[in-house]
Amino acid sequence: MTEQPDVPAPISQPTGGPACTLCGGPACVHWQRRLTDDEFTEYLHASQSRRDELTLLADSQQAPPDFGPLPLPADCTRAVYGCVNHAVSLDAASLIHTKTCTAPNAKDLPHCDCTPEPAPPPEPDPTPTPLPVSWGGTGKA
Ligand SMILES: [Zn+2]
Ligand SMILES: [Zn+2]
Repeated sequence: MTEQPDVPAPISQPTGGPACTLCGGPACVHWQRRLTDDEFTEYLHASQSRRDELTLLADSQQAPPDFGPLPLPADCTRAVYGCVNHAVSLDAASLIHTKTCTAPNAKDLPHCDCTPEPAPPPEPDPTPTPLPVSWGGTGKA
């Protein structure tokens, strides 16, 4: 009887990152889209089931866990993936698209068929701390 060396089990290759929503190829970019009504209903349902489960598992001697209000459609987005051939423009990818957006859609690329939500206003610059007169400042706040 010969001793078999331990052969490590082949490490299964990770199935790779996210796939392009259009062709299933490896995605290189992604952007956000609001959930459709069906997706949101499903999401709410899943959130509620999860909460019910946690409430059930919670210590009955303690106050029941407080999960806060259930998510609103405005709180939820879904990632949409595009491969190198099916990516929206960088500008479009930086915005949140509506729930009816069909991007990536070959006939609209690199644009899409929705008007994405406007980007949030940029953070205002903090008021600079005044410099002393000897540093070229006014010495006044
Ligand atoms: Zn693709
Ligand atoms: Zn869109």
